[in-house]
Amino acid sequence: PPRAGFPTVILMGLDSSGKSTLLYTFQKGEVMKTTPTIGFNVTTLNVDNNTSLTVWDVGGQSKMRVNWRYYLEGCNVLVFVVDSSDRARIREADKALKVILSDDNMKGVPLMVLANKKDLPNSMTIREVCKQLDLPRYKHRAWEIQACSGLEGLGLRQAFLSVAKLVK
Ligand code: GDP
Repeated sequence: PPRAGFPTVILMGLDSSGKSTLLYTFQKGEVMKTTPTIGFNVTTLNVDNNTSLTVWDVGGQSKMRVNWRYYLEGCNVLVFVVDSSDRARIREADKALKVILSDDNMKGVPLMVLANKKDLPNSMTIREVCKQLDLPRYKHRAWEIQACSGLEGLGLRQAFLSVAKLVK
């Protein structure tokens, strides 16, 4: 079980954006799965010797728990995963992010966008994802965007180190 005291990271994003894959890759298979009725993963990521994060994988937007807002309470950083190869759903991702960030619990909470699946040949650059999600509009919070491949494990450690640095 996650130990108390580590910064709490909420991992969100549309279904199939690659949330469980990147957690699984990063942990080399140690992700703790809870029962299907509860339906979310919670894990402690040991990013490096000095850095650990408690990560809640709350699930994809379309199959999100009715009470997903409950998980936002006490969130230190939001990590929002985007499938950067999926141009057809980038508007949907944008809308989902907007809804999450408009929650009262998310006021001032820093945001890390992970432009995932960068290994795919036609994936959008971080510049393009940034534009599609109009990240500069989030003026009143710290935000960052990084590319990664959860499947190949590229950029994950760097991304979570940056996530840890975003914690106030
Ligand atoms: P989740 O619903 O957000 O947890 O998404 P999953 O982790 O289940 O991933 C959805 C699909 O995308 C799976 O078929 C994964 O193998 C694939 N996938 C996830 N991450 C990557 C990635 O970085 N690159 C590629 N090419 N495929 C990925």
